[in-house]
Amino acid sequence: MVSLPDGTLVPAIGQGTWFLGESPLTGKQEVQAIRAGIDAGMILIDTAEMYGNGKSEELIGNAIQGYDRDRLFLVSKVYPHHAGKKNIWKSCKESLRRLNTDYLDLYLLHWRGSIPLTETVECMEQLKEEGLIRRWGVSNFDTADMEELWQIPKGKNCSVNQVLYHMASRGIEYDLLPWMRSHKIPLMAYCPLAQAGDLKGGLLESPCLNQIAKAHGCSVFQVLLAFVIRGGDVIAIPRTGKKEHALDNARSIAVKLTEEELAEIDRIFPAPKEKVYLDIV
Ligand code: NDP
Repeated sequence: MVSLPDGTLVPAIGQGTWFLGESPLTGKQEVQAIRAGIDAGMILIDTAEMYGNGKSEELIGNAIQGYDRDRLFLVSKVYPHHAGKKNIWKSCKESLRRLNTDYLDLYLLHWRGSIPLTETVECMEQLKEEGLIRRWGVSNFDTADMEELWQIPKGKNCSVNQVLYHMASRGIEYDLLPWMRSHKIPLMAYCPLAQAGDLKGGLLESPCLNQIAKAHGCSVFQVLLAFVIRGGDVIAIPRTGKKEHALDNARSIAVKLTEEELAEIDRIFPAPKEKVYLDIV
């Protein structure tokens, strides 16, 4: 489990949902995958008003029917151009309607846009007071963005920063992750599976990873997740539309990489030795 700044514990592996809900042909299977994921403990579900223009949120709204809402942890994101006084209430309420719920556990600014951060923070705090969201955070914020946020009134109420992080993209380990750790703000890792290897050619075929997977009797995907969550303060949100994969992802919690394995991973997929600007998709 990972502790949020307010002490709430969330599982280190949740569920991403980008691209889910977009095709009626796969909708039923995707609902089954999300439900299997919840049943296996992945109660944190990440979505955004952007995903499929709300279709991902609708799919989740459908998938969570019958579950005790208080047991779930729903995360959605507002477009940067909606993250101000003019549009954020409409965006938030539409996300709630599509998700079939009356509050979000976490609402994120999807990435920085032209609306001043002070205005977004004020709106987020107001949404919190009104009970529409329990807490808020940011996404795609690099170290300098976090520093800026920390200078803003109530900016320190940020609960999470969601950024790209996977074994072959370790730029954040240089300064962003240490910054987050020193401020006790958990990091939420998106694309933890490098989009099934698409973001890094040869990743899944790596002999090192296949050997480690074999030693643990697990898949390379599970090794990738175990790597991302190894520090205890990173939440990974892999996305799958398949039940079996959801179950595999949930089981990655039990995969503990040894010091030797981590050293071998460092050799093949080294962390950078200088500042690397945030990777995004
Ligand atoms: P991921 O790194 O999670 O990779 C998803 C791919 O991995 C899919 O093709 C999926 O296919 C496959 N997969 C998942 N589990 C397994 C498994 N156990 N075995 C084999 N294949 C598997 O990519 P995403 O880009 O989806 O990132 C994760 C989530 O992060 C998103 O869904 C979204 O919620 C969030 N995100 C946030 C961003 C932001 O700007 N804040 C940007 C990008 C993503 P299959 O369906 O066949 O299992």
